Amino acid sequence: MSFRRQLFLSLAVLVLVPAVIASLAVNRVVRANENAKTDAQLDSAARVGKVLVEQITRRAERRAADLEKDAKFRDALATGRPSVIAAVLPDALHRHLFAGAVIQLPGGQTISAGAIDTVGVARAVVKVHGTDTANLALGFSAVPTFMDEIETTTGVPAALLTGKAGDVRFKTSKFPNASAIDLSGSQIVAHERWRTRRLTIPSTGASQYAAIFALNPKTNGSSLATRLVLAVLLAFILVGVSIGLLLQRGLRGRIQDFLDAATRLGSGDFTAAAAIPVKGKGEFATLGRAFVGMARDLENRVDLLEKERARVQKSLVRLGKAFAANLDRDTLVDLVVESAVDGLTADSGRALMPTGRDGSSETRGSSGAVLEAWDALGEVERRALATGTSAQLTLGGLHAIAEPMQIERGDGPLGVISVARSRPFDDDERDLLKYLTEQAAVSLRNVGRHEDVARESITDELTGLFNRRRFDDVLSHAAARANETDPIALVMLDLDRFKVINDTHGHPFGDTVLKAVAKVVRETARERDLPARYGGEELAVVLATGDTEAARHFAERLREGIEALELGDERTGRVPVTASLGVASLPADGDDVGDLVRAADEALYRAKRGGRNRVETPTPAKGPEGEVR
Ligand code: GH3
Ligand code: MG
Ligand code: MG
Repeated sequence: MSFRRQLFLSLAVLVLVPAVIASLAVNRVVRANENAKTDAQLDSAARVGKVLVEQITRRAERRAADLEKDAKFRDALATGRPSVIAAVLPDALHRHLFAGAVIQLPGGQTISAGAIDTVGVARAVVKVHGTDTANLALGFSAVPTFMDEIETTTGVPAALLTGKAGDVRFKTSKFPNASAIDLSGSQIVAHERWRTRRLTIPSTGASQYAAIFALNPKTNGSSLATRLVLAVLLAFILVGVSIGLLLQRGLRGRIQDFLDAATRLGSGDFTAAAAIPVKGKGEFATLGRAFVGMARDLENRVDLLEKERARVQKSLVRLGKAFAANLDRDTLVDLVVESAVDGLTADSGRALMPTGRDGSSETRGSSGAVLEAWDALGEVERRALATGTSAQLTLGGLHAIAEPMQIERGDGPLGVISVARSRPFDDDERDLLKYLTEQAAVSLRNVGRHEDVARESITDELTGLFNRRRFDDVLSHAAARANETDPIALVMLDLDRFKVINDTHGHPFGDTVLKAVAKVVRETARERDLPARYGGEELAVVLATGDTEAARHFAERLREGIEALELGDERTGRVPVTASLGVASLPADGDDVGDLVRAADEALYRAKRGGRNRVETPTPAKGPEGEVR
């Protein structure tokens, strides 16, 4: 059932039940009132009837006295003859305004005249003749006349019964029929709401009359009860419906407010709760407060979720970075520390990385408020390093944990990752730091291995110089960039009569010579130059910046350095070593890397031919006209 229908039904019940109860109560009161009024009216009618009877009885008695003095009547009576008496009687009655009379003669004979049923009876004993007397009963008013008079006077319908049950002598025109008032039995039975009164009236006969007054409060006067009840009902319903409508409107309005706010909340608008009233003590205010609280909770949760999402996003970005930079040691350390600080919701964290075999180390990848936690981090790192296992401590209100990290396989140096915050760390968090540290160690070891492989792939094993592959690579790149303002130069070097050294002192000694020469080359070259083993006992240096002249100077220094080498032992004695060098540069000596190598090679060849232990530059090429290009 919808809320609206429920509300309507409950309001209907709320209005109708009291309305019906009130109507019943009003009906009862009004009925009682009507009954009382009707009873009063009936009593009054009975009283009036009684007074009327007494009045006419008194009048009848006065007229009876007159009649007794009436000469004609007295004469007729004196005869004692019933026929005579019967003959004068109607006239006598007429004269004295009686409705009827009954005379009981001494012989037991009865003479009557006029109406038999009369009211207002005067009795007299009259002399007949001699000592004989007759009983005289005189009726003042005929029953119908009397009854009509009563009805006219009192306004109440009436019926007349003889003393015997069920003998109805007269009913006024307005007296109800037997279905309303049943007079036929020994008891008067009133149906519906009919009410009756009985008035005993003396009669001319032996038995007495009874006048029955009857009224129905329902038809008596106005149907006030019905109208009142209807009015009360109507008023109740009107008031109820109006109040109901107002209430429903108010309720629906407030519920609509909640519905609107909930809809807005659902679509992520948290300002919606501000529209909900929360002041007061009513249920709606309580509901409002609960609603606002719920909205706030929801907002906080969404906020938290948003933060968590941002954190996950950051972690993903970091992971992506880790994939991309998996071979960069510093980035790796940064990522591990950031992940540890984030993952453990720490305030700060850092890594302590070994810098050499001597046990020295340095701080890397600091994250968060490291300065505030300096002492705690330092102390917990020291403990982890000293024991080689996890460490934890509380210092200056800060909780710190540290995990040592085996950076190389076996007994290599230890690094440490440490984090700190104001809350203590639980077991899960310590496990997480351990896991992160282990992962970091694996990655760092991989980085080391990769660095080794990378170094090996570009280095010549014997001399430690760059190998031919690296040389070709760097030279072609440098050659491509070379121009007039930024020229590059190439120095080619070949040991003189090396075969002889090999042959005389053995190949291993030849290797020693080669290494010593390489050392001279490495030490003479600048940081940005590239000394390489070109092949066999032939070396080369790419000078990142410099023209032919600069290269010639450099080559000369190399030549002197090699010549100055003190090589040999007791067995060999001093073995003199020299080298021949050819230099060339771009763009002076050609257009590309091929031209450059060719030019340097030619210069070297000329140095050999020119007597060795010397430096040669490209011969200026002759143009078609013989000019120097
Ligand atoms: P030149 O002055 O004309 O250069 O005479 P050379 O004897 O040095 O002649 P060449 O350059 O043709 O000889 C190269 C020799 O260098 C041949 C080879 O046995 C030797 N050699 C090449 N590589 C190595 C090496 O790695 N170690 C040793 N010990 N000798 C090598
Ligand atoms: Mg050679
Ligand atoms: Mg040689």
